[in-house]
Amino acid sequence: MTQAQALSQTLPVEETIRPKRLDDFIGQDDLRANLRVFLQAARDRGQALDHTLFYGPPGLGKTTLAQIMANELGVNLVTTSGPVLERSGDLAAIVTNLGRQDLLFIDEIHRMPASVEEILYPAMEDFKLDLIIGQGPGARTVKIDLEPFTLVGATTRLGLLTSPLRDRFGVISRLNFYNEAELATIIRRAAALLSATITDDGALEIGRRARGTPRIANRLLRRVWDFASVQGGIQIDARLAQEALGRMDVDAHGLDQMDRRILSALIKQFQGGPVGVKTLAVACSEEVRTIEDIYEPYLIQCGFIKRTARGRVATAQAFAHLKERVPQAFAAREQGTLDFE
Ligand code: ADP
Repeated sequence: MTQAQALSQTLPVEETIRPKRLDDFIGQDDLRANLRVFLQAARDRGQALDHTLFYGPPGLGKTTLAQIMANELGVNLVTTSGPVLERSGDLAAIVTNLGRQDLLFIDEIHRMPASVEEILYPAMEDFKLDLIIGQGPGARTVKIDLEPFTLVGATTRLGLLTSPLRDRFGVISRLNFYNEAELATIIRRAAALLSATITDDGALEIGRRARGTPRIANRLLRRVWDFASVQGGIQIDARLAQEALGRMDVDAHGLDQMDRRILSALIKQFQGGPVGVKTLAVACSEEVRTIEDIYEPYLIQCGFIKRTARGRVATAQAFAHLKERVPQAFAAREQGTLDFE
């Protein structure tokens, strides 16, 4: 049994392939280079790293970076998320247990209730906790000193963070969608860890359809690997990847059923828009947040949807992708003869 096989039997697949060191983290070159400097400086000074905020669509590596930072600094990582922290006491219990220079990762930090956020301010700024004990006239404030720690926040929606919270982060970094070559490298690395054989063009084919997202790339790899395994453990090449992904309803642009349902509603029910996101969400039987956080960013990145002041608009490219004829009125608007912004 290889070391990778032994490892994959004890860990969930996701954890087996998650990069552990900065050198294994592929892409996001500027961010990685900066982070390397900040980590080195914190290590040299023996101080806790500045509070860091990562933002960008899901699956691009925010959690992975937090784990890497803890590994590189050799400190503990404590993980929680905004919606889990319902009361200030929930956060207090966590921060009072942090060791010196430990890293606290709060995922979906924009979903933290205001009351919890307020006690986070002095904790971030002065490593102090102001807890109010009791209610009414008998209530009193207790100040607790905390060990210096680093907060790493992650959010898909930077705009939903209050400015006092945003201002307390020393580093704010955006994660961007990955290009095909980077995704192919991520896929080849994951395949090696899983002991799956893949050709370079097989990795590129999966990378091309992974919506610019490593999490999706790894998921597609695992599904294509399933197809390879049941065919007697053959290697994954471009042909097999195309066939398997076609059967999973992932098209050549990496759009899945839901992406196409959104485009189709926009084009067929609303003549290409503009239409408000709430109406679009109802037409697709999907939650507004899911459309905004998960589907829309990639559709915008591909140039299929535009966000305008009056709502979402399909582009001529979206009509072409769904093989729909562009209505005349829409074409006139696209050429700027009619204003819809
Ligand atoms: P997020 O927290 O942004 O939603 P994650 O950090 O959980 O995303 O990443 C999802 C998966 O994608 C991880 O399990 C990891 O294996 C993989 N991944 C993310 N970024 C990279 C990268 N730059 N290089 C290699 N794998 C990555």
